[in-house]
Amino acid sequence: MTHSSATALSWAEAPVALVTGGSRGIGRAIARTLARDGYFIILTYVSRPEDAERTVEDIRAAGGEARAFALDVGDDAAVEAFFASEIKDKVNLAVLVNNAGITRDGFLIRMKSEDFDRVLDVNLGGAFACSREAAKIMSRRRAGRIINIASVVGQMGNAGQANYCAAKAGLIGLTKSNARELAARGITVNAVAPGFIETDMTAKLGEDVMKAYVESIPLRRMGTADDVAEAVAFLASDRAAYITGQVLAVNGGLYC
Ligand code: NAP
Repeated sequence: MTHSSATALSWAEAPVALVTGGSRGIGRAIARTLARDGYFIILTYVSRPEDAERTVEDIRAAGGEARAFALDVGDDAAVEAFFASEIKDKVNLAVLVNNAGITRDGFLIRMKSEDFDRVLDVNLGGAFACSREAAKIMSRRRAGRIINIASVVGQMGNAGQANYCAAKAGLIGLTKSNARELAARGITVNAVAPGFIETDMTAKLGEDVMKAYVESIPLRRMGTADDVAEAVAFLASDRAAYITGQVLAVNGGLYC
């Protein structure tokens, strides 16, 4: 599908992709790429409305359709209310991308329990709550795609990221479990595990740390948000119809 056929449709008819944390970084690239592929986009953000608005405008300028909503995915009741008011019986939810994520890094012996809990709540709890609500809706249509943005560090671990690695490893378990449970309803569930990608999240790591990371990547460069978005677009497409419960690594060979 292309933009020209997508814009002839209304919001009630068009296939919709919901991208959590779709306002900037990897989520923004995913939103733009899925819009290119003909989906109407609903993106969420939590603290920066201006970034969300810019992404919506970019998608519209390219001929697509998008809407943005503030939603803290770490707040279970807010997720439930959002699906009830904006998704259920309003749009044709075809794809959910659980992309919203945060880090609160620190070494284990100094990590506060509240930082552990918040990272788990947003990265894993958010994906759980959104998947649960999306699955109720997609099950009725017996079709859907759920794609979870995990991380290479959920597979290999990383010093200073006990909370984040635990959340991302948990997300891989959630992916595999939901894939088995939802297959009979025509819903596929997969994860994309990015390596080190140039975004605000990695910018705060500092130049020396980044240089050391790049030296450890076989392809010798950081990934781009578009590298990740193309993998998501593939898993969302009909070309991936027989793929479920998988983790697609987009990491330049970092962990293979
Ligand atoms: P980012 O640039 O920091 O952007 C994070 C996005 O998530 C923003 O749109 C942000 O909204 C949103 N967000 C944060 N907390 C949220 C919450 N509680 N509820 C809803 N939305 C929330 O991050 P990124 O680098 O693009 O990362 C995107 C995903 O890829 C994350 O799951 C991350 O763990 C994963 N990942 C990233 C890398 C990497 O190298 N960058 C590698 C592997 C995996 P606001 O702007 O409004 O705060």
